[in-house]
Amino acid sequence: MITSVLPTYNRAPLAFVRGQGSWLETADGTRYLDLGAGIAVNALGHAAPELVETLSAQAQKLWHVSNLYQIPEQQALADLLVERTFADTVFFTNSGTEACELAVKMARKYHYEKGDERAEIITFAGAFHGRSSAAIAAAGSEKMVKGFGPLLPGFTHLPWDDIAALRAAVSEKTCAILIEPVQGEGGIRPASNAFLRELRALADTHGALVIFDEVQCGIGRTGRLFAHEWPGVAPDIMMVAKGIGGGFPLGAVLATEAAASGMTLGTHGSTYGGNPLGCAVGARVMQVVTAPGFLEAVAAKGAFLRQKLEGLVAAHPDVFEGVRGEGLMLGLRCKVAPGDVVQAGYAQNVLTVGAADNVVRILPALNISEADMAEAVARLDAAAATLNPAA
Ligand SMILES: *Cc1c(COP(=O)(O)O)cnc(C)c1O
Repeated sequence: MITSVLPTYNRAPLAFVRGQGSWLETADGTRYLDLGAGIAVNALGHAAPELVETLSAQAQKLWHVSNLYQIPEQQALADLLVERTFADTVFFTNSGTEACELAVKMARKYHYEKGDERAEIITFAGAFHGRSSAAIAAAGSEKMVKGFGPLLPGFTHLPWDDIAALRAAVSEKTCAILIEPVQGEGGIRPASNAFLRELRALADTHGALVIFDEVQCGIGRTGRLFAHEWPGVAPDIMMVAKGIGGGFPLGAVLATEAAASGMTLGTHGSTYGGNPLGCAVGARVMQVVTAPGFLEAVAAKGAFLRQKLEGLVAAHPDVFEGVRGEGLMLGLRCKVAPGDVVQAGYAQNVLTVGAADNVVRILPALNISEADMAEAVARLDAAAATLNPAA
């Protein structure tokens, strides 16, 4: 039977009425320790005082004006992003999916303007780039595309982290290679440094563009501002969203001057993209995340949490197989159904997020305390005890 909200989500029977830091609370006052952070969105936790202050102050002044006019808040956030990254220019969207749409358009237009119409975009198994026509065609999995054809053409899907397959596929027809440096929905799977470096070299050899989707792994999540800083490989175009708004809907496409050169006057637009509210919050998130010591703290927290999770895996060898990921983007590979681990977590008032490849995602607020991390692992330990087939 149809419900008043389109029934596309499998929702847990939990409703939260307020949040503070890494904690969420239901109407009856029951508290849950949040290791999902809205799927890597609430980068500074719930109701972060800095963001509440910035959002409230901006809400008193101006919510929305059209991109027909100058938007100083948008300019300020673009400047911060350009200053801190490979990029020369930024376009703001409201989501990761919209960032994917523009990234694909931008790459194709780049080649078109060079008189070399290349449409082929190489993507990888396990990828997730959003739910629009371009984004599902990019991912290509049956789960996402079945029944939604005809799909946007031009995508070639390769196995994950397979250098030989990539070498064989890249050619003078390749428009761009689109990849998450660390797959999120795919199960917290980092591409190897060697793979990303070879990918960059192959793209350069064949005149193709590199698009990194850092919607989930960006904005400090891995302990660097962007995950591609670990292998030291810069893209031509990058998709950002999720953490950049700290909970306010905001996304962006960052690009080099050359990659963006086809996107001239009138070639793209968005009503809400780059609005003053979102950009004011985004600039505050950027200021916090790039403040001295913040990213080092994320890396240290990540190391602390990882060590605790390794202990959890060792204590429950029938439930867990291992830990993977970087910084505070961690995955617990499970031997049982990851959905069962998430459910067992609910019973211990700890929130985690499932993913593909038998993984439960651990994506806490980037400023989670050591005490909350220790508490979270104690709760996961209690949850695992209820699942241990040998117990
Ligand atoms: C969430 C996600 C998207 C889509 O972002 P939306 O804001 O949901 O449209 C795209 N790419 C990756 C890697 C994501 O994790």
